[in-house]
Amino acid sequence: MKKQPVKVKEKDVYARVKNFEEVVEGFSEQEAQEEASRCLQCKDPRCISGCPVGINIKKFISQITQKDYLGAYLTIREKNDFPSICGRVCPAEYQCRKSCVLTKKDALFASPEAIQIHFLERFIGDYGLKNNLWQKIPLRKDTLLNQKKVAVVGSGPAGLACAGELARQGIKVVVFEGLHQVGGVLRYGIPEFRLPRIVLDKEIEIIKNLGVEIHTNIIIGRTKLLEELFKEGYSAVFLGLGAGTPSFLNISGENLCNIYSANEFLTRLNLMGSGYFPQYHTPLNIGKKIVVIGGGNTAMDAARSALRLQYINGLKGEVAIAYRRTEEEMPARRLEIEHAKEEGIKFEFLIKPQEFLGDKSGKVKKIRFLRCRLGEPDSSGRPRPEVIPGSLFERDCDLAIIAIGLSANRILTQVTPQIKVDKYGDIVVDPDTMQTSFKGVFAGGDIVGGEGTVIEAMGMAKKASQAIREYLSRL
Ligand code: FAD
Ligand code: SF4
Repeated sequence: MKKQPVKVKEKDVYARVKNFEEVVEGFSEQEAQEEASRCLQCKDPRCISGCPVGINIKKFISQITQKDYLGAYLTIREKNDFPSICGRVCPAEYQCRKSCVLTKKDALFASPEAIQIHFLERFIGDYGLKNNLWQKIPLRKDTLLNQKKVAVVGSGPAGLACAGELARQGIKVVVFEGLHQVGGVLRYGIPEFRLPRIVLDKEIEIIKNLGVEIHTNIIIGRTKLLEELFKEGYSAVFLGLGAGTPSFLNISGENLCNIYSANEFLTRLNLMGSGYFPQYHTPLNIGKKIVVIGGGNTAMDAARSALRLQYINGLKGEVAIAYRRTEEEMPARRLEIEHAKEEGIKFEFLIKPQEFLGDKSGKVKKIRFLRCRLGEPDSSGRPRPEVIPGSLFERDCDLAIIAIGLSANRILTQVTPQIKVDKYGDIVVDPDTMQTSFKGVFAGGDIVGGEGTVIEAMGMAKKASQAIREYLSRL
């Protein structure tokens, strides 16, 4: 008889909305064994081509079935430095699971029957963290490169992955981070109920244990210039600057009080501890009628965080997501959409904000929307939302969160004209080496090609680290 997918354990919905504890509890050993035993060990394992960094998925699943957890950990770590993180946040339904042979042909995203590769990866990643298996990762020290020093700017997944790769080769790496904490979006964007900080801290600790030095509160381009790093003796620089600039709707009333960008909302909460105001200094307003505009992971994270804050603050209210296309086109992870629905977030599709209306004190009171219908595909390949004339309507709203996208962090590139950027402010690189137009400077992650995923950022960083190694060996 065909084996059914193993259902991963999740926290009870009524309990979980009152706190920020992790929702998905992960597989036990027995569950991981059962799920791994469903893998067909295909001759042509398509799952591997669906993974942006090409993890040998078939092999690590087979190693799980043999209870060779160290082997499975090392197989994953050959390609991915953060299995416990990626096992939690990767949009596997659009990547490896979508390519799994068990996904139905032409499906938009993975079928439920597809092997739950991400949960197996998480199981192995967590096993590795618990048993300090990183110590078994072979170091590839190159004595010729031992005297070389590389600077990494930005401590998001791209910066950390590049730093880890280079440190494993015996290269001295120093990471410079503008914020006071390490991790980039993994720290200030993705909430704890999806990525517990203990997991993030442990993964960062491993990078530090490899000898990587991390300096926070240093903005390259402000505190010191990129050129100064070379004068200080760094032979190459990797830029993992991310896409930290929020986009806005540019409609009337957007400057009213209680309208946040999702980036600001999540940063106040995740980085500045505003959930614990006044013990922490940063406040965060919260409302009864909250509307989040957008359909990506950022929108889901903001909505689910806002809902938790309503509960914690004893505010009985409503959180709604307004999206201009339909659920099918939403770029968010399917699991996040499901969880948001279970938790009571309302979804309103095919609507587009036109104007924010405020009260006498300058606070947002209502949003005016227009209804949309789907038209021909746009440059993203998704059907373009077309406004239906005369369909204007209003919704009450005392807190709005705008989550419609992010663009390049330009702090460094604005003062470094030698680095070529495109019309979006993203850094232009040679796709084979990730080298920028500035000699000895490489880049990867969201600052190249715009907002992507954690694993894509790490994949670019890995490619850059290889090119940096070759560059250093030629010096
Ligand atoms: P970032 O993570 O943005 O890190 C860049 C770092 O560089 C930041 O810490 C910044 O402070 C620092 N920096 C920038 N300029 C300077 C400077 N001049 N000097 C010093 N430091 C500097 N992806 C997924 O795969 N799954 C998800 O579930 C998911 N959810 C997301 C949820 C949210 C709310 C957001 C915003 C994004 C999400 N993403 C998700 C996308 C993913 O987080 C990004 O693709 C990824 O973090 C990009 O990594 P990065 O290292 O390029 O940049
Ligand atoms: Fe297993 Fe699916 Fe990969 Fe085949 S495609 S090896 S079934 S995970």
